[in-house]
Amino acid sequence: MKTYRDIFRWGDPAHDEVLDTHIIKLLKEYLNLGEQDISEKYLTGSDPVQLKKKCRLSASFLNSLIKIAGEKNVAIEDTERASHAYGKSCHDILRLKLGIINNPPDAVVYPRNENDIVKILQLCRKNKTAVTPFGGHSSVTGGVETPRGGISLDLTRHMNKVIEVNETNSSATIQPGIYGPALEKDLNEYGKGYTCGHFPQSFEYSTLGGWIAARSAGQASTGYGKIEDIVLSLRMVTPSGIIQTKAFPRAAMGPDLNQILIGSEGTYGIITEACIKIRKNMPENTRMISFLFKDFESGLKTMKEVMQGRFGFPFVFRLTDPEETDISFKLKGMNNTLADRFLKMLGYKSPGRCLFLATVEGDKSYVNSIVKNIKKTAAKNRSLGLGAGPVRKWFKQRYSSAYLRDPLMDIGLITDTLETAVTWENLPALWYAVREYIKKRPDSICMSHISHAYENGANLYFTFISPVKKGKEINDYKKFQKGIIDTIVKNKGSISHHHGIGKDFAPWMENLIEPPGMGIMRSVKEYLDPGDILNPGGTLGLKK
Ligand SMILES: Cc1cc2nc3c(=O)[nH]c(=O)nc-3n(C[C@H](O)[C@H](O)[C@H](O)COP(=O)(O)OP(=O)(O)OC[C@H]3O[C@@H](n4cnc5c(N)ncnc54)[C@H](O)[C@@H]3O)c2cc1C
Repeated sequence: MKTYRDIFRWGDPAHDEVLDTHIIKLLKEYLNLGEQDISEKYLTGSDPVQLKKKCRLSASFLNSLIKIAGEKNVAIEDTERASHAYGKSCHDILRLKLGIINNPPDAVVYPRNENDIVKILQLCRKNKTAVTPFGGHSSVTGGVETPRGGISLDLTRHMNKVIEVNETNSSATIQPGIYGPALEKDLNEYGKGYTCGHFPQSFEYSTLGGWIAARSAGQASTGYGKIEDIVLSLRMVTPSGIIQTKAFPRAAMGPDLNQILIGSEGTYGIITEACIKIRKNMPENTRMISFLFKDFESGLKTMKEVMQGRFGFPFVFRLTDPEETDISFKLKGMNNTLADRFLKMLGYKSPGRCLFLATVEGDKSYVNSIVKNIKKTAAKNRSLGLGAGPVRKWFKQRYSSAYLRDPLMDIGLITDTLETAVTWENLPALWYAVREYIKKRPDSICMSHISHAYENGANLYFTFISPVKKGKEINDYKKFQKGIIDTIVKNKGSISHHHGIGKDFAPWMENLIEPPGMGIMRSVKEYLDPGDILNPGGTLGLKK
């Protein structure tokens, strides 16, 4: 029988991350935890799932669904509905740990093809039943939650294929429910070998449709661009009909329809296909470089100068702040080693020093030229070159660090991330203010890094860890999270760079987009989904 834990745990059931001795030492040091705090398991979620709310759909409605999608593709069992009730935010995990699933979908439907989706939307529109698209459910914004119940439309079971690769145009047409590894494998193995260039940390358990719907960014986005730079066209089924945008390399035909639909988070329609750019895969040419800076300011200056240097961009491009750098040294058992003492002797002391990683991909001469220029820029800003080693280490755990959240939350620690995009001018003040806010909470870790950089600014990604107030978990977390988002907004950051808005970040939307902007978004919603059946309940702040 499925437990709440089976639902919230991250990723491959065979992969269980444990808190090793370095982590335990660090938690004791930073959070004042004792042996008992570390050994006591808290809210493990090991009870079997049971839903209080039963499926409220009528027998005739369910029969119609079965007629459309087939009996095997319509599920109303508790475990299926519970598994489609939430994404993977800290709020979702806390609720599952507490056994709270107040608004599960009434049914889960796995459409076999676009035709099924057209019919399902017609039926649901007629019956005023909510439909929430569901990909890898790695949303961390309440994106797949179903406050009005209805149908969770899971695209991963059947609609998960590469339809066509076009080597002439360097593009591929793909179904939305494909997971990252399957997509990348198919492209790597096709013809001369290609890559999609999109590797979010959730890569293993998120889908192309979810990336497009939530405006995702991959770890190499500084080179490849975010998903909105990768999509050439898409096909969307809406209650008002099917939209197929064209894969023109560029056009001057009014506002860009792709950019209106990308990021619509399932509120305008269901993405059933997308044509994306693909690039020749040349891993043999990839170069990795890393540097240590004496302080965050020097690292930031270098990043900005690289992005504005007009010599081409790196692909993976990351700068970790002093606390994250300090913690990564400690977690790798590097603290106080001979090498560490040598670094300190050279003036790269902790706290202060910052780690800077970059990869460059593509043709050899292009790669060499960019690497040369990055090195030159870094040297100007008093850095120490560390070679490829730290980047290789980062690559090894690029997806697996996501698995650490479960064991951390198991010992009663809120473990969450928030991210923003901000101009270079405002970045230092925002970083400082958010850190100050988080550090005001007694016993907290606040790590931050930049992982996506632009000519005009960058993202900032904050990870915070702190003991939760036991017995008041949800309120404690929500209040703390709200304070961080308010601080981001006050310091001129966006409320998301790549996680999207979902239902959780919607309260800040109107203020940032302003009423005319929201008016445009609401008019599109009204036109495409007049019955408000698609991902309703506050997504994107479109409707309550
Ligand atoms: C550990 C972890 C690491 C993460 N790292 C990153 C990262 O590095 N970069 C990043 O961008 N994000 C990251 N995320 C967030 C998340 O992975 C992204 O938002 C991702 O784009 C969601 O994809 P998904 O397939 O899981 O979509 P889901 O979570 O299933 O859905 C997300 C939204 O898209 C809608 N949707 C899904 N499929 C469709 C469709 N076919 N048509 C219309 N709407 C649809 C849903 O209704 C929902 O609103 C991370 C999340 C976790 C838990």
